[in-house]
Amino acid sequence: MKNKFTQKYPLVWNKKKFFIKIFCSIPNIATGIIITTEKSTFIVDPGDGILRDLNKDYSPIEILNISDIFISHGHHDHVGGVWSLLTYLSVMKKKTPLNIYYPKGCLEIESIYKAFHEVYSDELKYKITLKEISNSRSFKKKDVTIKPFKVNHRELSEDGTNTFEVPSLGFKFTHENKSICYGGDTAYCKNLVDMSKDSDLAIIEAGAEGKEKNDLHLTIEQAIEIGKTAKEYFLVHVPE
Ligand SMILES: [Zn+2]
Ligand SMILES: [Zn+2]
Repeated sequence: MKNKFTQKYPLVWNKKKFFIKIFCSIPNIATGIIITTEKSTFIVDPGDGILRDLNKDYSPIEILNISDIFISHGHHDHVGGVWSLLTYLSVMKKKTPLNIYYPKGCLEIESIYKAFHEVYSDELKYKITLKEISNSRSFKKKDVTIKPFKVNHRELSEDGTNTFEVPSLGFKFTHENKSICYGGDTAYCKNLVDMSKDSDLAIIEAGAEGKEKNDLHLTIEQAIEIGKTAKEYFLVHVPE
């Protein structure tokens, strides 16, 4: 049975050349987001299909301009496209460096990178730097300031009786007094509430199945409540 509310993708927001396009964000399937300014090209949560989606909108030269990848957490619907994206950049002879930001303890990214490096290090012409994030200090990349913040995302144990914490971040991107807050996957948490408030755009997951509040994802009602504190908001990661 399909959910009553399904989000239509892509979602686009653009203020004074501060541009974001959410190609998709579907739980257990894939996420894929690009953020650009006049000087910057970032990818956020490159899930499966990111390369196909980028290729529809951007030339290879524009794709080679990607300088930074931001990973909210290691679930496959957020990192499934990393391998193909890194390989494509190598095949297309990217020369400029690439940074991958991810939450401390995210084994998936470290494993993907390690395997990628083993296979391709001889032919790789661009430098990849893994940037583990273990605090919420802001940093600047060209014309964008990035503030990472811890969120509260959990996953079910094997037998389904317990949940355990997944290292997870949200990111707030600010460019010329405009801000985009992306919460990643998270249950209700104070950091997300605080960071979303007064953002120009908040991107809030509503990944809970049904209306019951839980500690894995937000319900649609919770996501709307947080989204409304921003100037504009998108609900994403709604189960289909
Ligand atoms: Zn997810
Ligand atoms: Zn997740």
